[in-house]
Amino acid sequence: MENKFFHHALKILRDVCIGCSHCMRVCPTEALRVRNGKAELYDNRCIDCGECFKVCPVNAIIIEQDDFSKIFNYKRRVALVPAVLLGQFPDDVSPKEVYSTLLELGFTDVFEAENSVDILKESINRYVQNNVQKPVISSFCPAVVRLIQVKFPALVDNIMLLKPPLDLSAIFYKLMLIDQGVAEEDIGIFYVTPCAAKIAAIKSPVGEEYSEVDGVINMDVIYNKVLRAIKQKHSDEKSPTHSSTINPQNILWSLTNGEANQVKGRCLAIDSLHNVIDFLEKLENEEISDVDFLEIRACDEGCAGGVLTSGNRFLAVERLKNRSKSLDDKALDLPTSYEHCIDRYKSQINQRISIDPVKPRSMLKLDEDMARAMKKMERVQRIMCFLPGIDCGSCGAPSCQALAEDIVKGKAAISHCIFLQKTMEQTRKLHPDHSFRIMERIWGKDRFHKDCKKVPGRKKF
Ligand code: SF4
Ligand code: SF4
Repeated sequence: MENKFFHHALKILRDVCIGCSHCMRVCPTEALRVRNGKAELYDNRCIDCGECFKVCPVNAIIIEQDDFSKIFNYKRRVALVPAVLLGQFPDDVSPKEVYSTLLELGFTDVFEAENSVDILKESINRYVQNNVQKPVISSFCPAVVRLIQVKFPALVDNIMLLKPPLDLSAIFYKLMLIDQGVAEEDIGIFYVTPCAAKIAAIKSPVGEEYSEVDGVINMDVIYNKVLRAIKQKHSDEKSPTHSSTINPQNILWSLTNGEANQVKGRCLAIDSLHNVIDFLEKLENEEISDVDFLEIRACDEGCAGGVLTSGNRFLAVERLKNRSKSLDDKALDLPTSYEHCIDRYKSQINQRISIDPVKPRSMLKLDEDMARAMKKMERVQRIMCFLPGIDCGSCGAPSCQALAEDIVKGKAAISHCIFLQKTMEQTRKLHPDHSFRIMERIWGKDRFHKDCKKVPGRKKF
């Protein structure tokens, strides 16, 4: 099933953007251009990885979420939280305090997304064993799924067609509440997300008609609300309590090696976008063999490195590992473990565990008509002979190849290349005033005025 639309969680605030092009230079799918001194997004190329968000020096890129007040549209307001939320808080804040504070903020239920991992684990192991297309690539990270769709279309058949834990946990919790007599329309499930890609995956899922989740709240927003509320609390205040219910091993699922460690066979874990791209290129070129399963995460240290997390990712990983170990030592004496309860719904969850085959979303598609697309590709190659091939970005595109594609799509002209401008000026095909106006149209008039404060340093992240 091809997606009908691509929801993007990242938005560019044109009024704030200063056209510095930092975002364009880091985008792994060349989804950004600079036009009229502002960044512009090519929707069909963006995978919501958040790399541009990290480097914008003036916060002109934002990650849109649902308004927190939306939770009050429902009678049962479920906060579906990934374990990585707990890793954000300092050691003196307990899981019980975090979850109890979520209830005070307005949620009626708190449920941990990794509670469904045991069911998923069985299915993954069956899937890996039975699937001839190896290695099976985990579908956990939506940025990786989209990256494969747009940049590595030959690998789409390797993507595991199983839902991630957050969807399965949402299915379970809804089924359980309905069995308790709650009307389906009264249940609102809100995922607390560590990254933009999960927002996009919930708003326009790949391989599914709709998501099981009703809304998304950014983790940094929840973190700030919870921490503020905890600090304001008086020690003698009574509040509703809710403790963690998760199995110690499954706490680590969203971290690097959390998934690969629990799958049978030869499994590798790759994290961080540049490593991921490097590895997928090798896989596409058939330089890698005899691997059964690949856990691939776009962020460094898995979800602990998500762009919406508030804490340091290495400390978050350490906290989660310590927590996992201390629960293990206590032989899993959890107050309200859902393990048996989930088991009762296992067959219903398993019936809905699969997703439809993932289709490529080729970013190089130059035309819907194959014959015309081939002709346009030949034209791209001819244009490339004239471009300098140094990917300087002065044309407002991230590379010479991207400019050539824009030219054949009618979105740019060959005179946008500063090198060709010089050649054309020398042969009197272009007047220097015209060249100047072209550059103004790309970078904005202000770029050409003296201003000692412009071009801020790169944002430290
Ligand atoms: S979110 Fe990622 S893919 Fe999309 S524009 Fe930003 S860097 Fe490019
Ligand atoms: S990084 Fe620069 S060009 Fe990109 S959105 Fe931010 S200000 Fe605009």
